This record gives sequence, C-alpha cells and structure tokens, in this order.
Amino acid sequence: MVLAANPRASLEGQHFHVVVIGGGINGVAVARECARAGKPTLLIEQKDFASGVTSRSTRIIHGGLRYLEHGELGLVRESLREREKLLREKSHLVHPMHFLLLLNESSQRSAMKVRTGLWLYQRMAGKSPSDATEMELKRLERALDAGHKWSFFNYEDAQCEFPERLVAEWLLEAVDAGAVVRNHTEALAVDVAHGRVHGVLLRDHLTGRDAHVDAAWVINCGGPWADRVCQRSSIRMGKPMLGGVRGSHIVIPRFPGSPNAAVYTEAVDGRPIFVLPWNDQVMVGTTEVADGGDPGKTAPSADEISYLVRSVARLFPKAKITAQSVKYSFAGVRPLPYSPGNRPSAVTRKHILHDHEDDGATRMISVLGGKLTTAASLARECARKIGLKSAEPDAFAMGPEPALDPLLDDAVLEIARIGSVSEESARGMLEWHGKRAADIARMALVSAELRAPICPHTSHVIAEVVEAYRREYAVTLGDVLLRRVPVALGACWSESCSREAALRIGAVLGWNELTMGANLETLEIERTAFLRPAPQDTAAFEAAAD
Ligand SMILES: Cc1cc2nc3c(=O)[nH]c(=O)nc-3n(C[C@H](O)[C@H](O)[C@H](O)COP(=O)(O)OP(=O)(O)OC[C@H]3O[C@@H](n4cnc5c(N)ncnc54)[C@H](O)[C@@H]3O)c2cc1C
Repeated sequence: MVLAANPRASLEGQHFHVVVIGGGINGVAVARECARAGKPTLLIEQKDFASGVTSRSTRIIHGGLRYLEHGELGLVRESLREREKLLREKSHLVHPMHFLLLLNESSQRSAMKVRTGLWLYQRMAGKSPSDATEMELKRLERALDAGHKWSFFNYEDAQCEFPERLVAEWLLEAVDAGAVVRNHTEALAVDVAHGRVHGVLLRDHLTGRDAHVDAAWVINCGGPWADRVCQRSSIRMGKPMLGGVRGSHIVIPRFPGSPNAAVYTEAVDGRPIFVLPWNDQVMVGTTEVADGGDPGKTAPSADEISYLVRSVARLFPKAKITAQSVKYSFAGVRPLPYSPGNRPSAVTRKHILHDHEDDGATRMISVLGGKLTTAASLARECARKIGLKSAEPDAFAMGPEPALDPLLDDAVLEIARIGSVSEESARGMLEWHGKRAADIARMALVSAELRAPICPHTSHVIAEVVEAYRREYAVTLGDVLLRRVPVALGACWSESCSREAALRIGAVLGWNELTMGANLETLEIERTAFLRPAPQDTAAFEAAAD
C-alpha cells in the first residue's frame, strides 16, 4: 500500500449515529443522505470508493426498458424519475443517449411487442424520442450484416461514462454535509451483542491499526460482499441474501461504421446485449453467469469473451472483429437477491432493504441490489427506514442548480482562460469536474508542471491529479488514474503511459524513486487485475468459441 495522503487519525472510540459499510454508489448515496439529515455518519470502504461493482457496470442511466418485459412498472417509474434528476443535476457526467433497438427476421422478440413496450416506455417517460438521423441510420445499415433484414426502433436513455466521478462528487457532498469518510478501511466485523448492533470493528489498511467505533445504526452497503459482512459478524441467517451473477464486457476500438448511438440487440443466443460508444471506444456487454466466488477476484471467462466477440462480429461482419480486437475486458458480480431456481434474467432488479432484526441484529440494514440509476432514491428510502427525515422528497423535485454544461463553448473558454490551459484540457476538466473545474484551473495556473498533461495521449492535466489527492480522498495512484481522473480506462493507455504519468505526478508531489516505484507497481497490479486482456492463446480461444 502506498501512502500518498497524510496519515489519518484513529477513529478509536468515536461514536456515530450511522456507520455505512461499503463505498460503492449505494454506500456513498446512503452516507450523503444520513449526513444531510444531520446525523453523525461514518462511511468506510475496504479498497477505494467506486472500485467494486459500480465501476464494472455498463454505465447506462436507464429507465429500465427491460424491466417492462418482467412487468416491474414501479421500478421503471422510479428509474425514469431518477434518470431525469441525474440528467439535470449532473449534466456534465450524465448525458442523454440515443438508443437503437435492432431486430432482424430471426430475432426472438416480435416487432409488435417491442413497439408496444416502447410506446409504454415513452408514455411513462413523458417524452418522445427523436428519430436517429437518416445519415446515422444509413451508416449503421452499411456496417450491419447485409444478409439480414433489420428493423430499427428509436428510444432515449442516458449514459454516465464515469460513475466513478459521480461517486467522487457525491462523496464530497457527503463530506460537506458532515460525514467522515475512509477508504482503504475494512469492516472486520459488526459488533452485535444482546440482539442489537453496538458498533463496528474496523482496520485501517494504511496504518495497519484496528479501531472500534460505536454506532446506533449499521448500514451494510457491501454490494456483492454483503453476505460476507454478515458472516464475519456471526449474524446467522437461514439462507444467503444474495445470489451473485457475473456480468462481463469487452472494450474494442471504434471501427469503420461503429454506431454513434447505443445499439440494443440480441446476442448469438438471443439474449439482449448492448453495443455502446464509450470513452472513444466501443463497449459490448453483458453476460449472466452464476458466480459465488470472491467478488474482488471475478474476471470474464474465455467463453464469455468469445461469446461477446462472436455476437458483435456477427452484427458487424465487415469490421472483422476478432479476439485480437479486444483492448480489455472486465467483469462485476451483480448483487441480486438470492433466488434459487430462477433464471438470472428473471431475478428482480429492484433493490431490497433487509432488516436484520429477525436475524438477531436489531438496527442493522443490508442493502441488496439496486442500480446506478436509482442509488439516490434507494438512499432516501434507507434514511426513512432508520427514522431519518430525508432531505429530499421522492416526488420529482428540482434539485440544486444544474451543473455546468461542458458543451457550452463559453464555459470552456472561461476555464481555458482561468487556467491558461488548452480548450481541450478545459473541456476535459468541465466534463469530469463540473463546477469545480474553475478551482482546478486556478491551481493549474500556478505552474507549467500543473498544466502539463498526465501523459502525452491525454488532455487531462496534473492539477486534476493533485486535486484528487488533496480533496477527493485518493490514496494510491490507482485511486487517481482508474477512478478520480480515469485516464487509464482510455483507448491507448498502456504500461508506458502509467510510467510517464508516475514520473510527471511524482515530480510535482516530490516522490523519491522508492515511492514512485511502489506507486507504479500498485497501479499496474490493480490495472491488470481489473482490465483483462483477451486470452493470448487465440487457438484455444477460437476453440472455446465453437
Ligand atoms: C455487469 C453489470 C452491469 C451493470 N450495468 C448497470 C447499468 O448499466 N446501469 C445501472 O444503473 N446499473 C448497472 N449495474 C448495477 C450496478 O452497477 C450495481 O447495482 C451498483 O453499482 C451496486 O452498487 P453498490 O454500492 O451496492 O456495490 P459496490 O459498488 O460493489 O460497492 C460495495 C462496496 O463495498 C465494499 N466492501 C465490501 N465489504 C466491505 C467491508 N467488509 N468493509 C468495507 N467495505 C467493504 C466493496 O469494496 C465495494 O466497493 C450493473 C451491474 C453489473 C454487474
């Protein structure tokens, strides 16, 4: 572990009204909600904020068209409302996205059923989608397999390319409201005695020290680790709360004719998959494979990668997509409610707040499931469940001022002027930091080193990295380059970019060679464990495809 921040004070003996375990999108949203309700709140995360499933998702902020197929109208309504809120309040991070649902004559879904579903979806959203431009449709038609007759259906949803950044912003909002937040701090056990929780025993992995904090309430937002949190706390339940279902994605470079809209279609076996423009690349996903292993070690199997490659290659045969096209793949375990015997696709995507009173642990709640899209409404519900008055009603409320629109040329010019940086760098700052871009630009103005790009292939600058360490609770170089300023997810990032970035960052932060080497090593270990290359042995890989 590399220490980049000041050593942290021990939390030993401190009292909190709420201790939230797990700093994914749900945990951060719950901590923010409790702190806003005026309650002393502690959020602990064993690794880094947003390093769990939150960064392994397809990154769509959706009303949940697919939930209509399963009749979950309440969930669709909630998701649509939350989508609109995110589009308004975090417009620099959450963008409207045009979707094209593609069917051909051999599709398993009937065009009539899809048309009806979309009609209902639009009615519930209260707005009609704009049609894809004639030019976009022609481009796509040229790229698609000409051996099929394709039908196109338009609809609108949204994309959050970097939920890591959304989590970083909500984290700061939680801290501004008074929450104490600690990453690289693991809950070893929830302290349960005489049928109720009393606190949490935790370990700070930076200092190696253990501490006990008192808590009136414990909220387990451990995502796919939620059962493990209970097991290590000796909270006995008749059956597991979760049935883990792994979902994998591949990321490939853009190809001639690659769609500018998100494509929602059927994979080789008829399951729905997405082919999405993402981060100047193309993301293809996802799969559904039962996975009861350690969620921190989950990875796409060769079969899943092969399945996704075959599905996208079949759709776009002219692009000649093969295993070698895969830049990287990644996987996450969906924390779905335990439903033995049910097909993964049929398990509800609605979150559950499990009260552990009947398990002998009064005042402990486990949050199960959920979506990026509905994390804020889940947090409000959770706050109400523990008797707090939610700062915001569930009904659609106009939240704070909309964030700066990074597409506004005036804003870009203003940031470029403040920081004396290029327009491209200014746009990048606005896209990832919204209103806080101005503070970062002011920092950048101080020196040429702070204005320098993080590596030669990106316009994001060193000042953003310094901000991540200073204000956004980044501790390791991985925290910075994979989540706060996630340039390492980019199309051309490689080990040499990591090295160059470490040199530039180290020069500004005054790292010696030892610190630099250790930072670089932990970054590369984390990066390669997360972003997996496709199997090198393509013969074996192609065999798995048959
Ligand atoms: C393949 C896939 C695709 C998805 N696509 C979408 C999508 O397009 N749109 C959408 O809205 N949703 C999507 N989801 C769902 C969404 O990503 C998850 O529901 C959401 O991220 C769950 O957030 P979480 O905070 O509950 O879990 P996590 O993000 O996993 O957070 C839990 C955290 O708890 C921490 N933790 C665990 N144990 C401890 C401990 N003992 N002490 C301290 N910390 C601990 C972990 O390190 C982890 O960071 C997708 C999920 C998957 C898997």
